[in-house]
Amino acid sequence: MSGLQLVDIHKRFGSVAAVDNISLSVDEGTFVCLLGPSGCGKTTLLRMIAGLEDPTSGNILLQGRRLNDTPAHLRNLGMVFQSLALFPHLSVGENIAYPLRIRGKSKAACGERVRELLDMVQLPGVADRTITQLSGGQRQRIAIARALAVSPQLFLLDEPLSALDAKLREAMQVELRQLQQRLGITTIVVTHDQREAMTMSDQIVVMSNGKVEQMGAPIEAYRRPATPFVADFLGQANLIKVAAGEGGARFSGGTIPGLDVAGGEGALVSIRPEDIAVLPSETGPVKASVVFVREMGAIVEIYLDAGGERIVAHAAPKTHGDFKVGSTVSLSMPAEACVVFDGAGA
Ligand code: ATP
Repeated sequence: MSGLQLVDIHKRFGSVAAVDNISLSVDEGTFVCLLGPSGCGKTTLLRMIAGLEDPTSGNILLQGRRLNDTPAHLRNLGMVFQSLALFPHLSVGENIAYPLRIRGKSKAACGERVRELLDMVQLPGVADRTITQLSGGQRQRIAIARALAVSPQLFLLDEPLSALDAKLREAMQVELRQLQQRLGITTIVVTHDQREAMTMSDQIVVMSNGKVEQMGAPIEAYRRPATPFVADFLGQANLIKVAAGEGGARFSGGTIPGLDVAGGEGALVSIRPEDIAVLPSETGPVKASVVFVREMGAIVEIYLDAGGERIVAHAAPKTHGDFKVGSTVSLSMPAEACVVFDGAGA
């Protein structure tokens, strides 16, 4: 069932098309990340869903009902901003109860709901503390609790975790996802961090220049990127210019056996580093020399030069001694791991 639908949404700021004809559908109860580089329009899109910005044209529907003319405070949504926007002069409990109080709920009802929400975000018993007595991660949870106080239909978060350090951010990603699954609430998160998006989402929407490049399950977009931009943005990708050749796709470093590409203008091939095997032999369809070896603990990144093409491959940690800088190796690049963008290699 469709929770939220965006139909032909445009947003212009003067001559800038911040959002350029976006249509997408978010199923009820799913977790969706809007993902893309700075300036791609993701915050503007979220703000239009929230009612904080009017679309220049297009429609926003929630469960089939047009939302465009409904003011933000009547849209029944909870929002968490990057800044959190907590009230420093109010206690934790007063912060969380704020949206309930302005809706006229009694003190007793607020107190009960605050207790419930603090349990939900795993911070029982902090209602009387001030905001300044909490750590960054705890404040994050309070902002989430406040946004969920009125049991909204839609939960919107703009870069909610970007102020946290890396370890805490990863823990909060899992926590946020688990909370969303428990509540079954339709959730849309803006992030520029692809790892974050992949950890949390049912669906990711990869954006660039105000447009959607691809929408899909994270692993599907990672394995089968629709465009070179998506391939490059979601993790590491080797994007290699190839042409049709004898028995496969030819590039400056050799041939990818069995890979079909259209003739003519050439193609771009994307292959992930973990799909390339580095073999300590000098014979094979692709020859390369080792330029740099980066030990990352769980994996080893091997940077290679294959006839002038820079390629990165991953290897298991215990194999790193086999690959010395300057040595010649061969690469196994299975055709089935390659995604071909015909015509993109020109
Ligand atoms: P970031 O991750 O840096 O926040 P973003 O993907 O969220 O980027 P937006 O903030 O939506 O991008 O901005 C999209 C484009 O619209 C940018 O070119 C930005 O400069 C422009 N823009 C956004 N808000 C306004 C505004 N109020 N007035 C004028 N231009 C704006």
